[in-house]
Amino acid sequence: MTDSSHSTAAAQDFRDRAAVWLRDNVPAEWREHRGALNEDDESRIRSEWDRTLFRGGFAGISLPTEYGGQGRTMEDEIVFFELAARMQAPDGLGRIGKILTAPTLITLGTDEQKAKYLPSILSGEEVWCQGFSEPGAGSDLASVATRATRTEGGWLIRGTKTWTSFSRHAHRCLMLAKTDPDGSRYHNLTFFLLDMQQPTVRVEPIRQISDSSHFSETHYEDTFVPDSDVLGEVNGGWRVAMTVLGNERGLIEGIVRYVEIRADVDLLQTCCCAGDPGLLRVVSKLDARAEVLRWQVAKAVAVRDDEREGWRAASVLKAWWSEFWQEVTNFASTLDCPEHRQHWRHQYLESRSATIYSGTSEIQRNVMAERILGLPK
Ligand SMILES: Cc1cc2nc3c(=O)[nH]c(=O)nc-3n(C[C@H](O)[C@H](O)[C@H](O)COP(=O)(O)OP(=O)(O)OC[C@H]3O[C@@H](n4cnc5c(N)ncnc54)[C@H](O)[C@@H]3O)c2cc1C
Repeated sequence: MTDSSHSTAAAQDFRDRAAVWLRDNVPAEWREHRGALNEDDESRIRSEWDRTLFRGGFAGISLPTEYGGQGRTMEDEIVFFELAARMQAPDGLGRIGKILTAPTLITLGTDEQKAKYLPSILSGEEVWCQGFSEPGAGSDLASVATRATRTEGGWLIRGTKTWTSFSRHAHRCLMLAKTDPDGSRYHNLTFFLLDMQQPTVRVEPIRQISDSSHFSETHYEDTFVPDSDVLGEVNGGWRVAMTVLGNERGLIEGIVRYVEIRADVDLLQTCCCAGDPGLLRVVSKLDARAEVLRWQVAKAVAVRDDEREGWRAASVLKAWWSEFWQEVTNFASTLDCPEHRQHWRHQYLESRSATIYSGTSEIQRNVMAERILGLPK
């Protein structure tokens, strides 16, 4: 995942600095006991990690400095994620803010919205969630039924969203709601930056098979959003949602997941299968495929500015990493590594959902069939 710019002394200097910083800052509690942590401890460590990254100068590595980022290249961001994976660093609670909200605001937000939200996203003070899916609208996102009606100075949101990750900790929500019930499909939705900490928001955690409750059903009972927190045009929310999904299904998510999978394969190699030549042969095949995944991330980086190619690469990457991760955790769950039994139990259960969120495998294959192979709908 290198190009000529990366052979420069500046890139090497960044890599060295990041490696030293990660070695000194990754919490031992996470590295050594992650699979056994309860949910509160897990959330506390992930929240602290967001702040630690910011203090260390590693938040928003590729975001422009004018918005509080580090102004470095995407290649540097990838280098950091790779090193973080090898050091078993946590994934912060601010993931939606950094991966989805920040790039969308930079592309489509007003100057006021950027100034208001970007600093607290990068510093780890504010956690964001994504209010897209509803009990009756998942893959078919355009059919969301949550209503936004006009009121003085803004809008009132009424409806139910589901599978809302991070909502228990969230300060803000990327909310997609219907503003024109008579308008045509794709032209009747508006995108809001909704304040979650209002009494009209009710969050009901959903218990997952891993026993965690990372997501919730969230209810909005005339929740107010001022006009200044409309992102994009009124009834132009579909365009904003597609920008968000482009980020979600695309590059950064792919990098983050590659990091996690790489760390899992490393763990198999260095610990759980070490000393057993038969098992190590299986792991060497997984290792080779992790390299293919790395290559796919690199490809997605290379075409990221080309809208058409970027979507294609993102769909392939999403289907590939999610299904591959399940294979890794399927294999790991057949082992009996006393040190990492809890970890693999956790990873096996967590990876079940990977082929559902950010667009299911079936939806990704539809995209590949239609947009890459040009097959009829
Ligand atoms: C762990 C996790 C976290 C999530 N976090 C969030 C979040 O933070 N915010 C949020 O808004 N949503 C979130 N989601 C929801 C996620 O985006 C949806 O689950 C996903 O879009 C699928 O929608 P659905 O569950 O309604 O399934 P459906 O759309 O009802 O699909 C059911 C099945 O039908 C298949 N299917 C549907 N349409 C087609 C088609 N056209 N062609 C072929 N097959 C099809 C699907 O692939 C799937 O297998 C999360 C989901 C999970 C699992």
